[in-house]
Amino acid sequence: MHRNYIAGEWAEGGDATPNINPSDTDDTIGHYAHASAEQVRHALAAAEAALPRWGASTPQQRADALDAVGSEILARRDELADLLAREEGKALSDARAEVLRAGQIFKFFAGEALRIPGELLASTRPGMCVEITREPVGVVGIITPWNFPLAIPAWKIAPALAYGNAVVFKPAELVPGSAWALAEILSRVGLPHGTFNLVMGTGRAVGELLLNDARVAAISFTGSETTGRRVAQAAVGRAGPMSRFQLEMGGKNPLVVLDDADLDVAIQCAVNGAYYSTGQRCTASSRLVVTEGVHDRFVEALVEALRALRVGDARAPGTEIGPVVDANQLQRDLEYIDIGQREGASLVFGGAALPQVDGRPGYYLQPSLFTDASPDMRICREEIFGPVAAVIRVRDADEALAVANDTDYGLSAGVCTSSLKMAAHFRRHLQAGMVMVNAPTAGVDLHVPFGGRKGSSFGPREQGRYASEFFTSVKTAYVQP
Ligand code: NAD
Repeated sequence: MHRNYIAGEWAEGGDATPNINPSDTDDTIGHYAHASAEQVRHALAAAEAALPRWGASTPQQRADALDAVGSEILARRDELADLLAREEGKALSDARAEVLRAGQIFKFFAGEALRIPGELLASTRPGMCVEITREPVGVVGIITPWNFPLAIPAWKIAPALAYGNAVVFKPAELVPGSAWALAEILSRVGLPHGTFNLVMGTGRAVGELLLNDARVAAISFTGSETTGRRVAQAAVGRAGPMSRFQLEMGGKNPLVVLDDADLDVAIQCAVNGAYYSTGQRCTASSRLVVTEGVHDRFVEALVEALRALRVGDARAPGTEIGPVVDANQLQRDLEYIDIGQREGASLVFGGAALPQVDGRPGYYLQPSLFTDASPDMRICREEIFGPVAAVIRVRDADEALAVANDTDYGLSAGVCTSSLKMAAHFRRHLQAGMVMVNAPTAGVDLHVPFGGRKGSSFGPREQGRYASEFFTSVKTAYVQP
């Protein structure tokens, strides 16, 4: 039984759920304890008690601790990638990339701990000096989704600790294994007891306790829009001071392909963006907006590419597309495939679940492609979160831009074109937090801001030095020498 980590100790007790491998549902990875309400409150008290010590630690101490975490993640890359692929189902190559990213993020924020920014300004008043400094926010509650079991926890926990906060971390219940492995590493790098706590369990039980406790000064959340709204309501509705909150939620990201695009590049972008990681990325390009001059060639080449994709056990050599994460998500994907057909879109590839691959029972789904889709269809408006994409045919670049922006979301958006003028036009006018030119909508750097607009995100950006906007509290001091 894998236990919760609270106040510097591995806590006994609690119900446990089995962690099941979606590539082989006969394979149980382990049992992970749910934190009780009392244990969550204990973690919050421990975090609050740890704040003065960790807040007063030197930048070098924080840098050393975070660097040690990064080094161990990188040194254990193969083992952690295997665990990640086994519990989440993304192909081993994607899992390895995620583990690398998580290690690099800890190293990046180790460096950031040494350069916490401030400003010194002359006052408008004679003889006065104005100092602007950044202080820790306090106890930070971190709530993460299942689709990046290591990278998303890393990009929240690392900055939270770098800027001197204490952390209570609740991972998604479907992927406790990677979270537990990360906690185990964090337990050995010399953090004062209570600085970092792991509380596993459901959103309804454990997550809600974090949202409603006045000791939590900030909540960093990534997940669905429904839960994001719940986080926001709790943050302003709870007793005591409101908590600050940061929400990264869904996406319905467009990839625009213009007549002048390099077709090979466009196909690579579509296959990677829409189908890699089984389409289970908030930045996945589920809407392929294609101008009519290239439409038929694009569809033909994409179908050819999908036919060549190897769906299989996430850990098997050569697998490009692993299974869907669980039975619920598979059911949801299949429902959307049915909805798309009933709405009048043409299913030109895939659409079927594969109960077994290579003799292993799992949640496998063929990569699926619709054509003849229109922007008002539910498959073009709602996040599916699976290996399912729809092609929308448009007349020209103007219509492509209008269709690309016709969504409640705004996380990532891409354009494939060989025209510098068109690239600049789309870069300026796509309504998204991240714009990709001749690159997949998914796949980002670790040292620059990540986040979206409209219904995709709320609050300051994550990652890079922009993370300090959320994980620090600004103090303006007027000093009369
Ligand atoms: P989810 O909202 O169901 O769960 C996310 C987390 O919130 C989990 O840890 C869950 O236990 C917790 N939670 C659920 N109900 C809660 C409650 N009432 N109170 C407190 N916590 C609660 O999302 P998911 O299914 O795990 O993840 C998929 C979603 O995440 C998709 O919509 C995807 O687009 C989104 N996502 C967004 C980004 C981004 O950066 N924009 C990145 C990855 C995933």
